[in-house]
Amino acid sequence: MQLTNRAKVLEKKPMTLAERAYLPAIFQGLSITMRHFFMKKATIRYPEETRPFSPIFRGLHVLKRDEQGRERCTACGLCAVACPAEAITMVAGERKKGEEGLYREEKYAVSYEINMLRCIFCGLCEEACPKAAVYLQPDKMAPPRYERDEFIYGKDRLVEPVSPDARSIRGIQLTPEQAEALRSKLA
Ligand code: SF4
Ligand code: SF4
Repeated sequence: MQLTNRAKVLEKKPMTLAERAYLPAIFQGLSITMRHFFMKKATIRYPEETRPFSPIFRGLHVLKRDEQGRERCTACGLCAVACPAEAITMVAGERKKGEEGLYREEKYAVSYEINMLRCIFCGLCEEACPKAAVYLQPDKMAPPRYERDEFIYGKDRLVEPVSPDARSIRGIQLTPEQAEALRSKLA
């Protein structure tokens, strides 16, 4: 039964020999390939090449030191609370006698970790920090790695580096382990 008279009967043309051999489709595909071959490439060879960063780019975190080389972070946890991705974890500790040159406050972060796979680089941790301790660098991003574990950034990779010489100039005492760790990191 025909409901409307809008139906159009199409003529089914028989395919030519060339069409049956897919020749027009092959040449059409090759022309698209050749056109893209000579076009300006949309991709770059990252990480060997990088694109210029935007002026408002928020990249890899750094835990800052004060002007005397002491760690600013007091492990208050506000950055972790502010983090929408729950990427920050830390363990607080009490500064011992003789460590005044290492940590600015009486409480400091014994461990401080950021999971860069969870981080969305929103910068809320930076805004929440009352000690101006955590910053997102405008010109660095977490480099590519093969293992997921390598995206957990601890203090060894987050704290702003300072040379052992600079520390001795400032009169800051390092334990032998800390000095050795610093030297191997800077080597
Ligand atoms: S930048 Fe945003 S997502 Fe990343 S650690 Fe800071 S608050 Fe969390
Ligand atoms: S980085 Fe700032 S907000 Fe986060 S624990 Fe340290 S002092 Fe507190």
